[in-house]
Parts: sequence; structure tokens; C-alpha cells
Amino acid sequence: RAKQDGRNIHRFFEPSMDSAIKARRELEIDLRQALANDEFRLHFQPLFNLQDGQIEGFEALLRWPHPRHGNVSPAEFIPVAEETGLISAIGTWVLRHACQEAARWPKDTRVAVNVSPVQFRTRTLVLDVIAALGASGLSPNRLEIEITEGVLLHDTDATLSILADLQRLGVRIAMDDFGTGYSSLSYLRKFRFDKVKIDRAFIQDIHKGQDKLAVVRAVTGLCTSLGIATTAEGVESEEQLLALKAEGCTQAQGFYTGRPMPAEQALALLHQQEVMGMSVQSFGAPSA
Ligand code: C2E
Ligand code: MG
Ligand code: MG
Ligand code: MG
Repeated sequence: RAKQDGRNIHRFFEPSMDSAIKARRELEIDLRQALANDEFRLHFQPLFNLQDGQIEGFEALLRWPHPRHGNVSPAEFIPVAEETGLISAIGTWVLRHACQEAARWPKDTRVAVNVSPVQFRTRTLVLDVIAALGASGLSPNRLEIEITEGVLLHDTDATLSILADLQRLGVRIAMDDFGTGYSSLSYLRKFRFDKVKIDRAFIQDIHKGQDKLAVVRAVTGLCTSLGIATTAEGVESEEQLLALKAEGCTQAQGFYTGRPMPAEQALALLHQQEVMGMSVQSFGAPSA
């Protein structure tokens, strides 16, 4: 908070401040409209098992086709939704729709849902999850909640008890963007995560030499010995895929193994995989 306030004070003297506030205020109004008008959509990106080549799940990613500005990136509107509290209602919507969609998939296919720290603070998360599972009929072990290290920064005891409640329900908990935070490793001691998603930054140059590989190798080795699955984020090439497979990483997620796609396309891909019985070549799936 203090850091944020400091930044605002600094920005206060910048000439563009007026228009920046105005743009933000407009975004807030538009976000409310978007909820009311059901403008949000979910896209789904394959989680690709590196050992058997199967798609074993999808991450649900929020999309907002803005009526006037076109697609607005979640990186842009999620922070505003968090500051205004709108993320609670949006988060409820995401959980409900992601579970509903996953209930149409072949059984055992999982859906991963991103959850904001704000949803932990408002204490509605567990009830939202129970409601989404109940309404969709999705089995709890097919839902994976992705949290970032920011979730564990404040109010840790309350947060840990919510995570434990979710895990007791049978829901899986994944640590997202691992390695980007201040003390990533310490979080692995605080909670028994089901999965760790290694941030894209560590995957980028992985095929360019042993030293680039070192962090991924260490994290994968540690997680494996702790019984935690690993997902490599941002896999964009075959070289990266092969290196990650050799390191014993559990899953790959990235443009190379499949871009985020509309629900219908994800469903078709799963049906294709079912029919073929074996690995499906999802590589190069058209961008959506
Ligand atoms: P994330 O959870 O780490 O999601 C992965 C992001 O990486 C997605 O960006 C995805 O499109 C992108 N990505 C996947 N593969 C590649 C690749 O090979 N290369 C590159 N360069 N990027 C790749 P997206 O969809 O723009 O989402 C950005 C962030 O917004 C997400 O990061 C997540 O933190 C947040 N977000 C998205 N949907 C939701 C949501 O429903 N709720 C909340 N609270 N946050 C969300
Ligand atoms: Mg995520
Ligand atoms: Mg991530
Ligand atoms: Mg990320």
C-alpha cells in the first residue's frame, strides 16, 4: 500500500495525471457494464503432459472483448478490478463458467482457474468454489486453483486456512508464476501445493545451455522429491519442450503446445484426443 501511495504522489505532479485518472474511472464504469451485460469470455489453454503427450487439462483465461476498444488484456483490467473490488464478482463468474465448461469435457480433464488475492481477503472464495462445483456437477479433483505468491504475502494464517479448506474439499492448489516473487522457496514449506508452475522467465532460454537450465532443474528436482507436480509456462519451441521433458517436468503450457482458445475449440481438441486414443497434435493450434 505505502509503495502504491508513494507512486501516486509522484504521479500527481505529472501533467498526464488528469487523463490517467479519467481513463481509469472509465475502465471501472466499463467493467461494471461488462459484468451486467455478460461481456466476459473464457479462453482455454492446454496443459500438456510431457511424458505421455496428452492434454490433461486447460487453464481458463479471462477475455474481455470491449464494445468500443476491442480486446482488453487481463493484465490491464484485472488490477483495476482488484482495486475497485469488482474482482470478487468477476471471480465468481469465472469460477462458475470454468466449472460449467469443464463439466462437458471427458472425465479426468482438469480446469485451472486463476484467483486473485482479493478473493481471499473477502472470504467468499470457498463458498464460491462450492457453489460452482455444485451447479456444474464437476468433481472437486478436476478443479485446480492457481494462486500467485501475492496471495501468501499478507494475512498468511487466514490464507493458509482457506487453502487447506479448499484442499480438504478435494480441489487442487497450484502456485502460479513460481520464481518471480521475493521468497518463492519459503512458500513451498508453508503449504503443501499440488503443483508449481515455473514462470515463463525461467523457460525462455532453457535450451541455450546448462546454466540457463539450472533453475528449472533445481525447482523440478525439489518439487519431484516433495511430490509436487511441475508445469513449465511459456513453452514456445520444440527445443524447450524436449529440454523440459528431459528434466522430468510434468507439464508444458505455452504457444507451442497450444494457444488459449475458445471453449468450442478446446472441446473439439479433447474429442479428437479421445477418438485417437493417443496423443493429439495440438501444436500450432490457431491463435484465438
Ligand atoms: P497467468 O495465470 O500466468 O496466465 C498465463 C499467461 O501467459 C496468459 O496471459 C497466457 O496467454 C500467456 N501465455 C501462455 N503461453 C504463452 C507463451 O508461450 N508465450 C507468452 N509470451 N505468453 C504465454 P493472459 O491470458 O494475457 O493473462 C495474463 C494474466 O492475467 C494471467 O497470468 C493471470 O495472472 C491473469 N488472469 C487471467 N485470467 C484471469 C482470471 O480469470 N482471474 C484472475 N484473477 N486473473 C486472471
Ligand atoms: Mg495462471
Ligand atoms: Mg502463470
Ligand atoms: Mg503470469
